[in-house]
Amino acid sequence: MKLTELFNKGTPTLSFEVFPPKTSSNFSSVHHAVDEIAALHPAYMSVTYGAGGSTSKYTVSIASNILHQFGVTPLAHLTCVCATRDSVSRQLAEMQQQGIENVLALRGDIPENAGDPAGWDYTHASDLIADIKRQSDFCVGGACYPEGHVESDNFSDDLRYLKQKIDAGCDFLTTQMFFDNNILYNFLYKIREAGIVVPVVAGIMPVTNAKQIKRICQLSGTYLPQRFKQIVDRYGSNPAAMQQAGIAYATEQVIDLFANGVNAVHIYSMNKPEVAAKIQQNLSEIL
Ligand code: FAD
Repeated sequence: MKLTELFNKGTPTLSFEVFPPKTSSNFSSVHHAVDEIAALHPAYMSVTYGAGGSTSKYTVSIASNILHQFGVTPLAHLTCVCATRDSVSRQLAEMQQQGIENVLALRGDIPENAGDPAGWDYTHASDLIADIKRQSDFCVGGACYPEGHVESDNFSDDLRYLKQKIDAGCDFLTTQMFFDNNILYNFLYKIREAGIVVPVVAGIMPVTNAKQIKRICQLSGTYLPQRFKQIVDRYGSNPAAMQQAGIAYATEQVIDLFANGVNAVHIYSMNKPEVAAKIQQNLSEIL
């Protein structure tokens, strides 16, 4: 199923993200976690793509397994930094062969040894989106950043480039995580004003350990509300309590989003079936 069909129904949907193993040695533990999450039958599942395509073969095989073994619609991520037009075409052909219909098209983070951009086949995600749309019928998503992308000098440039993604054929957007829903509501208002009307999936990260939150904030510059900081301060040294509090915080965010008409919510479930299951269970009468 194409995800735009799902979003057009206008009913609340909950989906989960998983990531492929970094090496073949942890393939079976990742596979096991992915299977447990797929067995929850979420609206769809996204499978990330290793930086610079390092784990590309696993992304397609995991997405294919989700579809064929569990009947859950997969969304396969694809990054274009360091990729060639040929490698992208091969990857798309493989996805098509496996019956995958949805791709999240990203630039990816630029590795230190990436070389001179003048020699790259793609510079921005919008180049990849246009290329995918030119050669295939995939439903294509893109990333967006309610607090601005870390490399951006200002929000208005970011917004202009986001519009380029839409003009290149992007069918829907998924947001970077945020911990204050007002940031998303404000962002939605601004992008709608700028003429971006595609469905926007809200990305929610359940923070289940204190170390994780420090890393996230360093990488993405995400704002932490005082209420959230207090939870981390109080429970960060007690893993079980932190997990319970992180799940409760994420659940509250999701309920507020649904109540405010944001129907598509994607959980960055980080290969943690117990976290995905608990959030789904917390929303059992709402979904
Ligand atoms: P772009 O849209 O190309 O934007 C990158 C930067 O370039 C932004 O600052 C933007 O403002 C700027 N820009 C865009 N167009 C132009 C232009 N024409 N001229 C000048 N500047 C421009 N990474 C992975 O490696 N694998 C994944 O699976 C993955 N999944 C993700 C899923 C989501 C939902 C999100 C939000 C991020 C994900 N990422 C993933 C991280 C992402 O790859 C990085 O944030 C990366 O730095 C930017 O990717 P992008 O697709 O947003 O790039």
